[in-house]
Amino acid sequence: MKYNEKMYGLGSKRSIIREIFEYSKARAKEIGAENVYDFSLGNPSVPAPNDVNDAIRELLDTESSVLLHGYTSAQGDLGVRTAISNNINERFGAEINPNLIYMTCGAAASLSICLKAVFDEKGGEECIVFAPFFTEYRVFIENAGGKIVVSKPQEKTFQVDIADFESKISENTKAVIVNSPNNPSGVVYSEETIKALCEVLNRKQKEYGKVIYLIADEPYRELVYSGVDVPYLMNYYDNTLVCYSYSKSLSLPGERIGYIAVNPKMQDAEKIYLCVCGAGRSLGYVCAPSLFQQVIKRCLNAKVNIEAYKENRDLLYDNLTEYGYECVKPDGAFYLFVKALEPDAYKFYEAAKKHEILVVPCDDFGVNGYVRIAYCTSKETVLGALPAFKALAEEYKK
Ligand code: PLP
Repeated sequence: MKYNEKMYGLGSKRSIIREIFEYSKARAKEIGAENVYDFSLGNPSVPAPNDVNDAIRELLDTESSVLLHGYTSAQGDLGVRTAISNNINERFGAEINPNLIYMTCGAAASLSICLKAVFDEKGGEECIVFAPFFTEYRVFIENAGGKIVVSKPQEKTFQVDIADFESKISENTKAVIVNSPNNPSGVVYSEETIKALCEVLNRKQKEYGKVIYLIADEPYRELVYSGVDVPYLMNYYDNTLVCYSYSKSLSLPGERIGYIAVNPKMQDAEKIYLCVCGAGRSLGYVCAPSLFQQVIKRCLNAKVNIEAYKENRDLLYDNLTEYGYECVKPDGAFYLFVKALEPDAYKFYEAAKKHEILVVPCDDFGVNGYVRIAYCTSKETVLGALPAFKALAEEYKK
């Protein structure tokens, strides 16, 4: 074998989202960007808060090059980790400390590191994910030597189906990933769901006499509408690792900054933290970007304008349901998960494309027959798309 075929497969198979993105750029050149309604990418449309820009300017004017552009310790600058752990404790009543925080290059890195930290590389261990799920989970889990096991959701609400979840746990289960607010459904798992899920996990840990890790993937934690509460999983389950990112909460996806928080109540918490450090090292993450570690320290309570997302959500949800589309009203993130108007989501995506609407068919997210609308776009794009969505629905009624 001349090269690693698995890596070749990952590199050469273009994701449908990237494919749509390329099509969108080409189509915009032909008919003008304002006539293409591109809802494919989860790239935040609202700008980073002013606090972020102010912090960058102030840092550049006042701090040394070493602090801004030098290496930090592998787990991140101690002052930054202290500020983050204090903030977590204030907001969620947790009892974390800086030596259980590990700075990362965003949620993708946080997840890859956590999985690598807990999975036995000899294989045979499983990670449960809840459909619909972020497609990259499969890549990250398999890269850590694990096997993905998909738990199906409750119909219509897309909350966790607790009975199905329980049936998927076996003595091989090593970890469970919970993503709430969810990509691609926008659903926030209720406290009732979280309590039920943790009760099952605690029972199964006892039954099998082993630890099952709960990995909370939380890049959308701050993007919730109408005051909905997102339970903080450390407060519900001891063996929790939190994977946080500022990509969406501060509109900084290109800056690659986030962290892992290990629950102090976890069994062997310090050892698991060292496994996290080792996994980061083995994956070649030398340290998270220094400048943005410092920016985050100064912007822990900054917020993006989520009203703009809420406005898009309401416009799309209210109008699409009136036109006859079926979807769950999302409480968070910036996605609407819509039932395709025919069983084959890919064919529906092609039909929408003829109306210049670009949505993502979701079979790879573990639920067939749905498409994802990423409404992190301008309001003009949403308003422009509404008549096209209406015409598409009418076409199916004929
Ligand atoms: N997890 C989920 C559910 C996501 O939707 C994304 C990005 O869209 C990520 C993780 C990765 O985020 P990041 O940019 O912080 O790596």
